[in-house]
Amino acid sequence: MRVIGLPCPHCEHTVRAAKSRTLSPMYKEITYMCQNPDCGHVFVAGLEVLRTLSLSAQPRNDIRIPLSQHVKHTAADQLSLNLCVA
Ligand SMILES: [Zn+2]
Repeated sequence: MRVIGLPCPHCEHTVRAAKSRTLSPMYKEITYMCQNPDCGHVFVAGLEVLRTLSLSAQPRNDIRIPLSQHVKHTAADQLSLNLCVA
């Protein structure tokens, strides 16, 4: 699996995740260290669950994730298709 990272916002060099802190099932903070020795920037970035593209087969009742617009349209299309077929 590919790991998505972001470059250093100052020098655009690659960064390395030094540690992470899970604040909720929907949000995590990650501390990154720039790998450019001439820069040395250390910063915290946030990783947040934003929207659902495909529904979970094992949903948790306490987790609420907005559906993407694409899923809303697809579900509405399928619903209207099923209504027409039925
Ligand atoms: Zn840097």
